[in-house]
Amino acid sequence: MILEIVQYGNPVLREKGREVKDVDEKVKKLAADMLETMRSANGVGLAAQQVGVPVQMTVIDVADIEDRPSAMFIGDDEVKIEDYMPLVLLNPQLKLSKDKETGSEGCLSFPEMSADITRASGVRCKAKLLDGKEIEFDASGLLARALQHEVDHLHGILFIDRMNAAAKASLAGKLKRLQKDARK
Ligand SMILES: [Zn+2]
Repeated sequence: MILEIVQYGNPVLREKGREVKDVDEKVKKLAADMLETMRSANGVGLAAQQVGVPVQMTVIDVADIEDRPSAMFIGDDEVKIEDYMPLVLLNPQLKLSKDKETGSEGCLSFPEMSADITRASGVRCKAKLLDGKEIEFDASGLLARALQHEVDHLHGILFIDRMNAAAKASLAGKLKRLQKDARK
């Protein structure tokens, strides 16, 4: 089922997600619906807050984005991205590399907006999967960026919070309009 994507101005986007303790049918259904919703919107990531549910769950798929490559490692071994996509991550925790990288970012809750955001160039991610198993992996490239963007959502942090003042100022008019629409 395709869910409605919540837009900026809706307070649920600022809520910190509850931890997912049991992977029950409700959680599995939400994951399936989030994947369907992300695909239909041509997104590379979606957090549960963006469909109005403040829990620690995100879906990511960077497999088909050829102009912005990603790399993924488990232990010392590089693994094939396609084998792990789409990712459905529960209660993800990130450790960020010290190296930083600036790249363009958009968000499905902020239609027709994008900005350059500086983030860690690599992350180590630890999370629970839908089968109840834990996964730990390292990521770089677009996957590292998507993970940081989505895990931010799970804590009520939005990409406008990571923009420099000039980028945010240039979007001020659009942001105001979105906020106004959300109050209707
Ligand atoms: Zn987003």
